[in-house]
Amino acid sequence: MLVDYKGIVTKLPACSHPRPRDLTMTDLDQKLQALRDENLFRERRLLQSPQGVEVTIDNEPLLAFCSNDYLGLAADPRVIAALKQGADNYGVGSGASHLVTGHSTPHHLLEEELADFVGAERVLVFSTGYMANIGVVSALMGRNSLILEDKLNHASLIDAARLSRADSRRYPHGDLARVEQLLREANTPVMMATDAVFSMDGDLAPLPELVALARKYNSWLLADDAHGLGTLGEHGQGSFSHFGIGLDDPTIYIGTLGKAFGTFGAFVAGSDTLIETLLQTARTYIYTTALPPAVAEATRESLRIVKSEDWRREHLRELIAKFRAGVTEMGLELMPSDTAIQPIVLGSAEAALAATSRLREQGILVPAIRPPTVPAGTARLRITFSAAHTDAQLQRLLSALAELPGAK
Ligand SMILES: *Cc1c(COP(=O)(O)O)cnc(C)c1O
Repeated sequence: MLVDYKGIVTKLPACSHPRPRDLTMTDLDQKLQALRDENLFRERRLLQSPQGVEVTIDNEPLLAFCSNDYLGLAADPRVIAALKQGADNYGVGSGASHLVTGHSTPHHLLEEELADFVGAERVLVFSTGYMANIGVVSALMGRNSLILEDKLNHASLIDAARLSRADSRRYPHGDLARVEQLLREANTPVMMATDAVFSMDGDLAPLPELVALARKYNSWLLADDAHGLGTLGEHGQGSFSHFGIGLDDPTIYIGTLGKAFGTFGAFVAGSDTLIETLLQTARTYIYTTALPPAVAEATRESLRIVKSEDWRREHLRELIAKFRAGVTEMGLELMPSDTAIQPIVLGSAEAALAATSRLREQGILVPAIRPPTVPAGTARLRITFSAAHTDAQLQRLLSALAELPGAK
């Protein structure tokens, strides 16, 4: 059985092993073969250059439209310099968890600066977004509570609900009427959990409406802004700022630092009481080594750039608008997204794979996303833009797309 990141289950052929114990190498080999047979086997590409729009992958120079480095900061010289200086000042390893002796000055300053940036009372830095989601949900919810999840939520939110042992219900993508019905019927504490920007579709969750529902029904709203922080809102403050709403109770805001910020790590923002509760009880915060302090220093520099260089977001918006106009003219099917995630729906998995390899022949890297990651019949190219893309590079992409079957 294979469960993809949205919890969609793909049945693999059962292993016909005669013994009751089935954890043998033969069985693992059979399972791996089944993945290959179903076209679900995945291979890693070898990146031999820094992350960026022009990369070397498997010895081939490629123009990439697939990273989450939306502002082009992953290899920014200023961020690199801050990392080096941080290592000189604080060493490499943090040496302990935050509650022992791993919590250093750079972590502390980063938390204060992030809280100020997103407009929250307080922030807690976690080692990854995956761990932040698991830590928050398990700390606040448990047996006898209910978690409502958008059908398209990221794997880490799905896993967070599973590990918390709460009941969880998934509602159709963005279906507010269904959410309200579930809230009305609930007789246990409830948390709504949603991606703020959906990672495979690029659209936004209806955050103002979800905040209103959370208030009306006295539930938590956990919003994971992995793809909105840095790219949306005033000075990149994220999806809530984009909608002109603040981060007040009962909102729990998750930001990740490995995407638009170009570094690594994540944070939870909320009220002082919420953050203190997480600090005392979130197991993925307590029982793990603190992020290297030099990474926190690099993130502080990247935050300074995110805030001050609005031109990055303006350029990104222009690229997105020109791309959408160009693709619409070709008659290809776009999704309703205004963010840096711009999927083109091609239908069958074969069509998506064929498009990816045709683009690759022209030196352009765009991944094909197939079922079960997305619903059957909606296999797509998932194009992502970065502020580091030039207009000329966008034109190269558009010319290549114009030669796909179905484009005119
Ligand atoms: C990438 C991502 C995460 C995980 O963040 P990491 O810091 O990479 O662990 C969580 N949620 C969403 C929506 C993401 O896209």
